[in-house]
Amino acid sequence: MSASVALVWFRNDLRLHDHAPLVAALRAHAVVVPVFVLDPALLAETDFGWRKTGSARLAFMLEAVADLRASLRARGSNLVVSHAAPAQALATLAQQVGATAVYATGYATPEEQRDERRVAKALATLGATLHLSYGHPLLHPDDLPDRVTPLPEIFTQWRKEVERRLKVRQPLPAPGKLPALPASVEAGALPTLASLGYESLPRAAEADYAAEGGETAGLAHWEAYLEAEYLSTYKETRNGLLGMPFSSKLSAWLAQGCLSPRQIYWDIKRYEAEVASNESTYWLVFELLWRDYFYYVARQYGSRLFRPGGLRGHETRKLRRDRGTLEAWRTGQTGVPLVDACMRQLLATGFMSNRGRQNVASYQVHDLHQDWIYGASWFEHALVDYDPASNWANWCYVAGVGNDPRPSRKFNVVKQGYDYDPDGAFVRHYLPELKGVPNHAIHEPHRLSPLEAQALGMQFAEPLHL
Ligand SMILES: Cc1cc2nc3c(=O)[nH]c(=O)nc-3n(C[C@H](O)[C@H](O)[C@H](O)COP(=O)(O)OP(=O)(O)OC[C@H]3O[C@@H](n4cnc5c(N)ncnc54)[C@H](O)[C@@H]3O)c2cc1C
Repeated sequence: MSASVALVWFRNDLRLHDHAPLVAALRAHAVVVPVFVLDPALLAETDFGWRKTGSARLAFMLEAVADLRASLRARGSNLVVSHAAPAQALATLAQQVGATAVYATGYATPEEQRDERRVAKALATLGATLHLSYGHPLLHPDDLPDRVTPLPEIFTQWRKEVERRLKVRQPLPAPGKLPALPASVEAGALPTLASLGYESLPRAAEADYAAEGGETAGLAHWEAYLEAEYLSTYKETRNGLLGMPFSSKLSAWLAQGCLSPRQIYWDIKRYEAEVASNESTYWLVFELLWRDYFYYVARQYGSRLFRPGGLRGHETRKLRRDRGTLEAWRTGQTGVPLVDACMRQLLATGFMSNRGRQNVASYQVHDLHQDWIYGASWFEHALVDYDPASNWANWCYVAGVGNDPRPSRKFNVVKQGYDYDPDGAFVRHYLPELKGVPNHAIHEPHRLSPLEAQALGMQFAEPLHL
């Protein structure tokens, strides 16, 4: 009798540790074929004129796929890489190797769930089955208290309920030796940015963020963060703007699944037992719970997350799209230093701090009065750590169409500049034209007197719509 064969479909879970689909496939099948599918739809041009995935995230993803392939090869297996729609790619491969099952991580958002339905349908015609597991959130839905279904409207309510008896599963160990791929299977070449028609980010020489894709780099980054004991002061530093250590910088690895949130959680617990346990160590778990909350928001509200009326369903809301204004916002040319520096940082690196994201989103929605869908779509393109649930739910929240009872989350972007960048180090870093501006005017250089501006040889225009 021939050995039973399964595929493991790697999606945004590009790791070997804590990988439930891989463990389940190995338990039930003698031959397991790991496969990554690069869907052309992810690279398609959007109505806004940019591609759905920008080069920062694509580069990170390709690095992560290369790392995964190397780890699988080191264990005797390999990673098949296919460039097609998932249903087509997986059905073709399943037929070729005689697979009766495909194992994968399921997601909470509509496009990803549509792919799952299509894959399941295509497999059914072959008599094969799609098995989905949970891997993305920290908390497994079966471990949530009954009282959080339906989801409480407010994060704090949800958090307090789940914290009452927080159950976080232990991460599954990475497998050891793996079965070889059937001889007939071609693993396929890895695409490159250039072969996909992309250019690398014009990373500014002064870029203050760098992250290499992949489980190996992610684990090394996290170990170094713990080793340096940055976790002990995380709560005090997390609102920083410039440089790597002020916050964990786990987001890109978590979004692509190179790191498991459960691994992070249990490492924090070990750190608390061995090094220090304080408000800061708790706070990183608190932030991971925000991530989970938005995952469960996406699961409950589905496609509403992506509509102008958001979770509240105000479909009649009129949203403006003034081309010049939006282009100035997107490219960091609004005349508001904090906003411009953040937007140029995003262009240069694919990253922006949480404080920055809240401010630029608030400014786009509440000062410029522009369509938040544009802002969220630009983030979807540009962010290295784009995660559908986290991005769109955060935008809904700032735009006042989330499940937050407060009608407006407007930030005073000038005050925030002085509060969080009092000496202007961040804005000067990304806006060299502000180098000579004195600290007292660094976040509103248009207020310099004509004489002061002349002495600097500069003219500062009034910022847009403040
Ligand atoms: C408008 C807007 C859009 C955003 N889009 C994304 C996105 O696409 N992907 C993404 O991962 N985060 C997003 N965030 C959340 C947050 O800004 C980033 O997770 C964080 O800045 C990443 O840096 P870090 O890893 O150092 O975070 P840390 O402060 O060290 O937090 C640790 C981890 O907790 C999670 N986290 C923290 N804050 C949030 C939050 N508000 N919502 C969800 N998860 C959170 C992230 O996984 C993060 O890596 C967005 C926030 C806003 C306001």
